Amino acid sequence: AAIIEFKKVNKFYGDYHALKDVNLSIDEGEVVSIIGPSGAGKSTLIRTMNGLEGISSGVLKVDGYDLGDKKTDLNKIRRNVGMVFQHFNLYENHTVLENVMLAPRIVLHRDEKENREIAEKLLKQVGLLGKEDSYPRQLSGGQKQRVAIARSLAMKPKVLLFDEPTSALDPEMIQGVLDVMQSIAAEGMTMVVVTHEMGFAREVSDRVIFFDQGQVLEDSHNPKDFFKH
Ligand code: ADP
Ligand code: ADP
Repeated sequence: AAIIEFKKVNKFYGDYHALKDVNLSIDEGEVVSIIGPSGAGKSTLIRTMNGLEGISSGVLKVDGYDLGDKKTDLNKIRRNVGMVFQHFNLYENHTVLENVMLAPRIVLHRDEKENREIAEKLLKQVGLLGKEDSYPRQLSGGQKQRVAIARSLAMKPKVLLFDEPTSALDPEMIQGVLDVMQSIAAEGMTMVVVTHEMGFAREVSDRVIFFDQGQVLEDSHNPKDFFKH
């Protein structure tokens, strides 16, 4: 069943037409890579999926919520639709463990002991056991991004969005982040990933969308075939 559905969605920044009549449906459990040149509108597209950017016209439904309806509570959507950014956006004044525990404590009122257990399990999953008490500034870029991923997962989202998650990393840090993303994909998470990592797009995703000039130009459910030509 579709968990994300765009019907004739348009987005304008002033006069600039960033999304042009986009039709796109993403099913639960799909891992979708979005590729395309800089300025194509990929970041805009993914940011509409959790309401970080509003749409100008058309219909966009995510997890049953109508994102074009001003009455829709975006906080409810963002609980279930996590986002991992290029530049991590960690809380610099909080430890790694606190970064992961904060939102579930404040937003979900999760029991403190359970919250800690979940956070520690996630830090183990992303390879950061032992870094609980470190601050973000003490970590490498790759470690920071893995904290950001653990933080998103702590909310137990239904969908995880990734906006160029490895683009700000030194080359030697990239694979560790991609490995974590692959492990999340293997657990059945619905993922939409804007990326320049063609290895990830080809080997890990179920589907590759080539986006340019505000439009879906190609949509392949067979990434290995897609990258043949
Ligand atoms: P991509 O992620 O594919 O590089 P973006 O979605 O970031 O593309 O940007 C698409 C176009 O929209 C670019 O020309 C960009 O400058 C423009 N744009 C993005 N955000 C804004 C904004 N907040 N205001 C005005 N123009 C924007
Ligand atoms: P990134 O590649 O990290 O997304 P960008 O330079 O594309 O960086 O965008 C950074 C921020 O600036 C985003 O919030 C985007 O919406 C905004 N932005 C991008 N292009 C424009 C623009 N032409 N006018 C106004 N804001 C823009």
